[in-house]
Amino acid sequence: MTENPFLNLTYEPALEALGDDYYDIVAAADFPQHILRFRNDDLLPRLGLQPNTVSDFDFIETFGQFQQRSPLLALRYHGYQFGDYNPRLGDGRGFLYGQVRGTDGILYDFGTKGSGTTPYSRNSDGRLTLKGGVREVLAAEALYALGVNTSRCLSLVETGEQLWRGDEPSPTRSSVMVRFSQSHLRFGTFERLHYLGRSDLVEPLLSHVIAVYYAHLLAIQDPQERYARFYAELVQRVAQLAAQWMSVGFCHGVLNTDNMSITGESFDYGPYAFINEFNPRFTAAYFDYMGRYSYGNQPRVCEWNLQMLQKPLALIMAAEDLETGLASYRSHYYTAYKQRMLAKLGFSDLLPELGDELLRLTLELLEKTQVRYHTFFMGLTEQFSEQWCGAPEQILQATVDNSDDDAVTLLNAWQLHYHTCLTTLSAVQLSKVAQDLHRSNPTIVLLRPEIEAIWEPIVAEDDWQPFYQLLAKIQRPFETDYRTLD
Ligand code: AMP
Ligand code: MG
Repeated sequence: MTENPFLNLTYEPALEALGDDYYDIVAAADFPQHILRFRNDDLLPRLGLQPNTVSDFDFIETFGQFQQRSPLLALRYHGYQFGDYNPRLGDGRGFLYGQVRGTDGILYDFGTKGSGTTPYSRNSDGRLTLKGGVREVLAAEALYALGVNTSRCLSLVETGEQLWRGDEPSPTRSSVMVRFSQSHLRFGTFERLHYLGRSDLVEPLLSHVIAVYYAHLLAIQDPQERYARFYAELVQRVAQLAAQWMSVGFCHGVLNTDNMSITGESFDYGPYAFINEFNPRFTAAYFDYMGRYSYGNQPRVCEWNLQMLQKPLALIMAAEDLETGLASYRSHYYTAYKQRMLAKLGFSDLLPELGDELLRLTLELLEKTQVRYHTFFMGLTEQFSEQWCGAPEQILQATVDNSDDDAVTLLNAWQLHYHTCLTTLSAVQLSKVAQDLHRSNPTIVLLRPEIEAIWEPIVAEDDWQPFYQLLAKIQRPFETDYRTLD
């Protein structure tokens, strides 16, 4: 027995039990130093642990030195990267440390990033830069607080090595991160089996996925019907995820199929960005030359990824079931996106046609006038008044440049329609608009300058206070008025 509560958790070897066709057993790197930079105490109760009973050293011993209770598994997968199939992927700088059932009944993966080389590292170092780790901690916490279905980081340990990277001033500092996610099984995990012609491995994997992550479907006796329902539900989950990203103004950056979780959870944030101006062509990754994963392309690219997943699934499923499942993607997406966007506009209950038109006019206004996305919604939240019901011209004044006639015309059309929508509300509904606006529109957004601003003191003086302060704010983006948006 050890005193370390992480080592005393009950690990369930669900993936290991599938057999070694799906992974390789690997060892963690031996790091020269371990400095705990982030521990996610918010997640500990879900593991049945009280934060004050877990020491920093417990984190380091488990998630920096990787003292282990079960074999460390580098998962095998392939994937479509920027549209091209790549069979040379797999966990090249991470492994599955273990799986633990949360107090909520969900089986969680502890997956590492930056923990050393594996058979899939190719010529790379198997490491994660400290800045890369800090960025993923921030992204996951920000998205979680905004209601996005995302994995989170359990810990980030600085590891005392010097790394060389083309996209960071080098040498740069190293880290190892542990991700807390529903699953590290990806679309690419299935795609690999199709590529290798191993249809015999698709059924066990799919049955595992359904048993663990779609357990409510186990009641369906007919396997074909169960598989069809699984795919249809995955389609819905992914459509909802894309809608969540779009509404919060998030651009994932690298939506390759190896970064798409089979549970529909968002994970693996590389060069992501939150948009500032509402520009559908905004592209987060500097190496995405064609803008394939631009902000506005995300819903379409997720649909394409789901279509590629049909190839391995078709080895054991009827093509018709797959087509039917995917056919509902766009309506699921639109329904979810519209609901979230109308909430940002203060409406939870609007006649469908009025809502469609309000969404259309809002997007047109945002795109053509290049009003800043978050600033627009923050302005609406701050200025909203029930008096607007009687005075459409007062609605959201000073939003656009008054000397720009086209912009003023667009704003006027938007104001008139917003007014029409307001007039359909009952007195009780109207009295709730202000509160709904505050609940849906953050007063702080993790824009790139915010990240750079906390990174500078870390580099210059090893000062982590700005990082912790920013973290605290993005974890509560609706509660306090931080007024960082101009
Ligand atoms: P990612 O961009 O993190 O989704 O990684 C894409 C692929 O490249 C995965 O197979 C990673 O394991 C691999 N990879 C990325 N960076 C490294 C690295 N520094 N060392 C080894 N493998 C890496
Ligand atoms: Mg990845």
